[in-house]
Amino acid sequence: MELKNRYRNTESMVGLGNPSFAAAKEAGLLDLAVHNTERGTLALPDGREFINTCSCSYLGLDSHPAVLQGAIDVLRREGTLCMSISRLRVRLADLDHLEEELSRRWRARTIVTNSASSASAGLLPLIASGHLLPDGQKPILVFDKSAHFSMNLIKPICADETHVITAPHNDIDFLEDLCRKHARVAYVADGFYSMGGVAIVHELFRLQERYGLFLYFDDSHSLSLYGEAGEGYVRAAMKGELNERTIIIGSLGKGFGTAGGAVMLGPGHHADLVGRFAGPLGWSQSLSIPAIGASLASARLHGGEELHARQRRLRENVRYFDERVATRTVGEDFPIKVIDVGPEAMAVERSRQLMERGFYASAVFFPIVPKGRAGLRIILRSNLTHEDLRRLCDALVELAVPGT
Ligand SMILES: *Cc1c(COP(=O)(O)O)cnc(C)c1O
Repeated sequence: MELKNRYRNTESMVGLGNPSFAAAKEAGLLDLAVHNTERGTLALPDGREFINTCSCSYLGLDSHPAVLQGAIDVLRREGTLCMSISRLRVRLADLDHLEEELSRRWRARTIVTNSASSASAGLLPLIASGHLLPDGQKPILVFDKSAHFSMNLIKPICADETHVITAPHNDIDFLEDLCRKHARVAYVADGFYSMGGVAIVHELFRLQERYGLFLYFDDSHSLSLYGEAGEGYVRAAMKGELNERTIIIGSLGKGFGTAGGAVMLGPGHHADLVGRFAGPLGWSQSLSIPAIGASLASARLHGGEELHARQRRLRENVRYFDERVATRTVGEDFPIKVIDVGPEAMAVERSRQLMERGFYASAVFFPIVPKGRAGLRIILRSNLTHEDLRRLCDALVELAVPGT
C-alpha cells in the first residue's frame, strides 16, 4: 500500500498553486502594506487608497468604538499584554468573564481559544480518540470533502487514532450508510462553507437523533452574522441546550470583529479535559489581553439592537449585490461572493483591473479552489456604504465580469 500523501499532497499544492501566487504578486495584489484612513479606505505608502472588499469582518465590529475602548481599558488596567503561562494554571479573570458572557448569550458552555485553527488542532484528536464522545469510545471519523483546510490539516493526526474517511460534500446517504454499519460515527464539517453553501444541519440532526451521530462544526463564517445573539447558523438551528454529541467552534476574528476562537461544548463534555489535553489550547499563549477586553465588549453587543441593525444592513448589501451580479450563491444570504472567471491568469487580471478602480477583491485559485476554476472573491460587509457598493457593482459591470 502507498503510505505517502494519503491525506495531503504538499508537492502538488505548491507546484500547482505557486505560479498563480507569483502572478498575483507580479500584478501588485499581494503583500500590500497599508494603514487605515478611518474613512472606510486603506492607504498604500504611495498615497493610493482603496476599499477592502475582502475583509471577513462582516459587521464592522473591528472598528466599533466600544470594542476599541474595551481593548484600551483592559490594557491600561492590567498593564501587560500577555501572561505567558498556560491558561490552565493562571489566567486573566476577564477571560472567565468573557467566557461567561458568551456562554450565557450563546446558551452553551463556551471556551475561548487563540484561534479557530488551534481549537480544531486541539479538539479533533480528542474526538478521534473517543475522549469527547459521551461513552468515551473511538468513533470512525468522517470529514466532509469541502471541510476547511484548518480541519483537514489535522486528518493525519486523527488517522493515527482511528479510521478516517473523507465523505462527498453534504452526502447524507453516504453518512447514513456509515451510521448503519458502525456503532459510533463522528462527522466534521463547516457550518457556512467559505466558498458558499451550508451544512445540511436538519438532516444531520435527524441522523444524530436516530443513530447518535457525533457532530463537529466549524461555523467561523456565520458567527455574529447569524442568530439572535450572533450564535451562528448551526447553533441557531438547534433547539434548546447544546447536546453532548455536538461541538461548534468558530473564529472570533471574522464577524465577531476581534481575535481568537470560540468552542461551544455540550453539558456532558469535560471542559477540564479540553484544557489539559487539547494541545495548543493549553500552551503558554492564551488570548492576548487587549483581545480579551475587545472581545468582552463585542460579546456585550451580541444580542442587542445594534447587532441586529448591523445584521440587517449586511443582508441589504447582500441583496443589492445579488440584484446586480449573478454568482453561485445568489439568494443564499451569504456575504462571500465568488465570481467564476476560469483561467488563473484571467482572475489575476480582473483583480488588478478592479484595484485600478479602487477596490481590492482577491483572485482565488488553486489550492483555494479547484484547478482551472479561478475566480474573484468579493466579501460584503454591513459597513460598506450604499454608494461604495454601487460603485463596486458599476466597476464589475464595466469590466464585464461574468454574471453582470
Ligand atoms: C477563517 C477560518 C478559519 C481560521 O480561523 P482562525 O481563527 O484564523 O484560525 C477556520 N475555519 C474556517 C471555516 C474559517 O473560515
